[in-house]
Amino acid sequence: MAINVEEVPGLAPELNDIRRRTARVVNEDILPVEAELTWLSRGYALDAEEREHHRRRAIVLKEEIKAKVAEAGLWAPHLPTEYGGMGLDFLSLAYMHEILAYAAGASELFGVAAPNAGNASLLVKYGTKEQKERFLIPLVEGKIESGFSMTEPDSAGSDPRSLRAEAVREGDEWVINGHKWFTSNGIAADFFIVMCRGFDQSGELGPAGQMVQIIVPTATRGVEVVRGIGIFGHEHSDHCEVVYDNVRVPVANTLGLVGEGHQAAQDRLGAGRVYHCMNSIGQMWRAFDLMMERAMGRQVHGGLLRDKQFIQGFIADSYSDLQAARLMTVQAAEKVSRGDPEARTAISAIKVFVPAAFARVVDRAIQVWGGAGVTNDLPLSRMFLSARVLRIADGPDEVHRILVAKNLLRRYEAGRPLDFAS
Ligand SMILES: Cc1cc2nc3c(=O)[nH]c(=O)nc-3n(C[C@H](O)[C@H](O)[C@H](O)COP(=O)(O)OP(=O)(O)OC[C@H]3O[C@@H](n4cnc5c(N)ncnc54)[C@H](O)[C@@H]3O)c2cc1C
Repeated sequence: MAINVEEVPGLAPELNDIRRRTARVVNEDILPVEAELTWLSRGYALDAEEREHHRRRAIVLKEEIKAKVAEAGLWAPHLPTEYGGMGLDFLSLAYMHEILAYAAGASELFGVAAPNAGNASLLVKYGTKEQKERFLIPLVEGKIESGFSMTEPDSAGSDPRSLRAEAVREGDEWVINGHKWFTSNGIAADFFIVMCRGFDQSGELGPAGQMVQIIVPTATRGVEVVRGIGIFGHEHSDHCEVVYDNVRVPVANTLGLVGEGHQAAQDRLGAGRVYHCMNSIGQMWRAFDLMMERAMGRQVHGGLLRDKQFIQGFIADSYSDLQAARLMTVQAAEKVSRGDPEARTAISAIKVFVPAAFARVVDRAIQVWGGAGVTNDLPLSRMFLSARVLRIADGPDEVHRILVAKNLLRRYEAGRPLDFAS
């Protein structure tokens, strides 16, 4: 089933146009070949030659679709036009994420996949001219790959102040030592942005012991990608464990200053959380459509699934979950885009609510599809796993719930109770 995108009354004409154009690429160019693009998931029965054939076919298809995306003026929507992007504002980008997420893996085909997209935005904001030429431009052009290396096995990722990796300045070089894991895209990456504690005793690059982000090409001596960590029963993934053992890079690779690392991570993650939620909503939308399709067509026990009250309950509950998640997320995006200081609370609230709603909607769709629901023939099982991961990545639920409660209590204690209409 194709995504049905209609004119939204009250939305700016440019935004309606972006929704419509994005949906056209999704419907005409991606959904008809979705199975071929994700051929790997079909694979055990294929012999080596067939696998290679399908792998090559997927690469060709991807390049063709990327060309169509570029032709439609929809490539790298998150980046300014001077760096080859669309230059979309925050809200437009959020709306676009929702539509493109309807098709599995589409964000890569629009040049806005994590972690490259977030890294590119960091480079736009904090990068020097040389860093932009060497890392940003080829990244946007799809010639190189990247990863973001912050979480560590031996410190709590949900408390970034506990990070242990260190960079010590020696002359014109940083010497980096640290142990990271869950550096996504770590197998393919040509460079990592590494978050560590910086010690520049000269003080030239900022106060010693504060957080700093440093660009580390993966080919640098001392960078060891130990493994692609196996997750959810799969043998391996591209979420990598990485050891940095006396890794030397020029101080010119510093992204921003020592002391700006946390802020840069927040810049990356804060906006990213809204996009991730819109992304989840696009996937919930697809799951919902799939559930409806199956309910309307599947005969069981002498009748269509659509006529069974259990299934009608699934439809009603999923509709409510989707609408609630979507309205909360659009409202949070609007708060961010108008610079509302309360946006932080709204972002944390959706960061908790949306993945849970996402999991419920996908779970019901899987149930309606029966055995087919858990196969790789449908995108549902992958969605289910990604919904679970989202309750941990970018800050686990508990941290965000605490933040929501603290912000609200602060308001009420200051004599400013909420106006839920604003
Ligand atoms: C698939 C995947 C991809 C990832 N990609 C990346 C990446 O590209 N780069 C990167 O740097 N990281 C990445 N991460 C790491 C992710 O951001 C961290 O796992 C996350 O921030 C949590 O950190 P942690 O695993 O160290 O858990 P911990 O900080 O050890 O927390 C464990 C649990 O403790 C509980 N908890 C924490 N704080 C509190 C509290 N205050 N009160 C009550 N309970 C609490 C929560 O239930 C939490 O889940 C990825 C993770 C996954 C699963």
